[in-house]
Order: sequence, then structure tokens, then C-alpha cells
Amino acid sequence: MAPKTKRAKKPGIWDGLYGEIQVKRVQPYEALKAYVCPGCNRDIPEKMGHYVCVPVEATDLRRHWHYACWDRRTVVTS
Ligand SMILES: [Zn+2]
Repeated sequence: MAPKTKRAKKPGIWDGLYGEIQVKRVQPYEALKAYVCPGCNRDIPEKMGHYVCVPVEATDLRRHWHYACWDRRTVVTS
């Protein structure tokens, strides 16, 4: 299914395109709404702890991530 495109690695918003990412931990009791995690495109249901990740130069692009998705994203595999 995947199209045969070369994976040109260009910086995305989570790789510093809009500066450093501020990561804040949202506790379950603070999670009052459901969000969609950009790492896996699945819901983060309300009352689930997760991260809020905010590019410092584009704070309106803040997104909510599952803990696991964000942690996996930041691990550089070689
Ligand atoms: Zn996720």
C-alpha cells in the first residue's frame, strides 16, 4: 500500500522546525477532553494522562501525545 517515495528527511514541527518543544505532563485528573495523538492518530480518551507538546515558536501548534508515542518518537534508532 505504501507509495514508493524516497524518505526525504526534512525537519518536522517535532524535530525543531519551530524551535524547542516544551513537553508538559498532563495528569489523568487534568485530562478533561479527548484528543487525537499525532503519533498514532488514535484517541487519547479523557482522564488518561498524556503529554502536551508545544513548539516554543509556534505555540498554536500544540498537540497532545500519548506518553508512549512521544517517548518512542524521541528515541533515535540507528
Ligand atoms: Zn499515540
